[in-house]
Formats: sequence, structure tokens, C-alpha cells
Amino acid sequence: KLYNQIQDLRGNIRVYCRVRPFLPGKESASSSVAGVEDRTITIMTAAKHAKDARKSFTFNRVFGPFATQAEVFADMQPLIRSVLDGYNVCIFAYGQTGSGKTFTMSGPKILTEEGLGVNYRALNDLFDMQAQRKDTFCYEISVQMLEIYNEQVRDLLHSGPNKKLEIRNSSHKGIAVPDANIVPVASTSDVVDLMNLGQKNRAVCSTAMNDRSSRSHSCVTVHVQGRDLTSGTVLRGCMHLVDLAGSERVDKSEVVGDRLKEAQHINKSLAALGDVIASLAQKNAHVPYRNSKLTQLLQDSLGGQAKTLMFIHIAPEPDAVGESISTLKFAERVA
Ligand code: ADP
Ligand code: MG
Repeated sequence: KLYNQIQDLRGNIRVYCRVRPFLPGKESASSSVAGVEDRTITIMTAAKHAKDARKSFTFNRVFGPFATQAEVFADMQPLIRSVLDGYNVCIFAYGQTGSGKTFTMSGPKILTEEGLGVNYRALNDLFDMQAQRKDTFCYEISVQMLEIYNEQVRDLLHSGPNKKLEIRNSSHKGIAVPDANIVPVASTSDVVDLMNLGQKNRAVCSTAMNDRSSRSHSCVTVHVQGRDLTSGTVLRGCMHLVDLAGSERVDKSEVVGDRLKEAQHINKSLAALGDVIASLAQKNAHVPYRNSKLTQLLQDSLGGQAKTLMFIHIAPEPDAVGESISTLKFAERVA
């Protein structure tokens, strides 16, 4: 509660940054990241390490390559718990393909206990809180998993045909995707089963050469309804955990056909997301939610009392520096 009051004073948009380590066997003597502090990252803007080639960016929190999944989660925990108090929360993982977005949100490809990402830890934490508060609150927790690919919304928890779904806006339910499955969860194993189903459905659409996961947005939505057992008051909150499509600029001269269309949809929707968050940060009267499916879908959870965490990811390889700088500039604009 105190945390929420502090947050409200500071504004509801926070930006975190994480630098991933070099990949095993690909360690390099030089990194494009010259320094990482608690709140500041310093980047080499040019290949030659001249002093004036350094630029620093300051955010709410910066994690270096040695930060563990548990440490990263610990910083996000108060935000995540606020969903139990009826807040809407959006957490976005942003960055170029290979920068560590999926690692942060889900974990490494071969999942271990310590490797568990935010999605799993968040739900586990909500289950713990549910148990702790069981004498005073009755919580119901359920999950949806959607994918946005080429500006089309699809259900990752579908069992039948994978139809294109509509986003609807109703006065009593707000923004919703009524035709997507919504699955009640009560335990870690329920969540693991769901995540596996979602990943399997996502994989069906890709081939080895054509990894669709980096070119679509995936959104795990956790709906929480809590009833105060003494007063009977019901609070509803929801949390969107979004693993965004890779932010890298695709050279338009090199891609054609389907790849060009995909790239255009990604650019458009990431730009729309940046525009929405930037206009919220600047407290503009008009917020351009309608410019992409992503911002339409999340409209109820962006702005107002809702809390947003933009979590950007940086790859340390020197040849990634151009993309790293555009990621840092994106974040600077929304902070
Ligand atoms: P993205 O989702 O942004 O394309 P991934 O999360 O798939 O990137 O990360 C690319 C590779 O780097 C994967 O093999 C992943 O396991 C590894 N990786 C990413 N972040 C970390 C980290 N913080 N620590 C260790 N390995 C990481
Ligand atoms: Mg990924």
C-alpha cells in the first residue's frame, strides 16, 4: 500500500534495463557496454574506445550481466503484487532479437529452477500471497495467452482451429478478447502446463529458419479477482506480461514479401507503443491507443491508475551497438 502511494507520486511508468552476458563460447574481450551501475548504463557509441565515444543513460534500475533471475524479480515484486490491490499492470520486454527478452520473461530454453523467468515467478508469488491472505481474501486467478502477429490477435491457448480474434470494448467489461480461452490456475504445475501449451502452439507456426517468436508479440494476461471476506468488496486487477517482437530495424532493401510485411507491422506497433507511453509520460490529453492492435489490447492497462514497466534488453556484443543505442533512446523517450 505504501509502495503504491509512493508510486502514484512518482508517476506510473518505470524503465528497467538489463544487459545480458556474452553467450558461452562467444566471450569477447571488448563489450559495447562500458559500465553498469544501479541506475546508469554507459555505452560505447563507436568502435574505437575514445572517451567522447561514451554515452550514459539513467533509468529506474539497470541490471548487469551477472544479475540473477531472482534479483531481477525481487525488484519487480511490489509492482506485481499491486495487482492484488486491484491495479492493472503492464510489463514489457523490449530489445533486439537475441538480447534476452524471453530469458527475462520465461527463462532459458532448458528451464531450471533458478532460471525461471518473471512469468513463472510472478504467478508463484501471487499464489503465495493468495495462501497468506486466505483468511481475509478470496482470490481467483486466471490466465490468457495471446499472440499478435501481423496485426492479428490469436489465442495461444486454443485447442481447435487457430482463428483470428477480435478485441472488443464493452462498458461493463472494458477491453477484452472474449473468444480467447481463459484458464483458472491454482498452482505452479497448472502454470507450467499452460506455458508449455502456449509455447507449443506458437512453435507450430514457425520453422527453424523462420522463428516467428521473434516477430510476434506474446502476451500472458493474469486476471485477478479478490473478494474481501469481511466487507464483501470485490477488487479486480490484471497484469499483462508482454514479450515483444524484436525491435531491430530490418533493412528494407534486403527483405521482400512476407518478411517486409512482418517488419512493417512490427515497426508500426513498437512505434505506436512508444507513442502511447511517451504521451502518458508527458501527460498529454490525447493518447493514440488506436494505432496498433497491441496498444488497443492493453488500453485499459496503460495510463490512468495503471502501472507500466518498460524493461529494455541490451546485447553486449560490439556489433550490436547500433541497435542498443536505438533501444536506449526508445527507453529514454518513454521514461
Ligand atoms: P530474445 O528473446 O530477446 O530474442 P533470448 O532471451 O532468446 O533473446 O536470449 C538469447 C540467448 O541468450 C538465449 O540463448 C538465452 O538463453 C541467452 N540469455 C539471454 N539473457 C541471458 C542472461 N541474462 N543470462 C544468461 N543467458 C542469457
Ligand atoms: Mg525471444
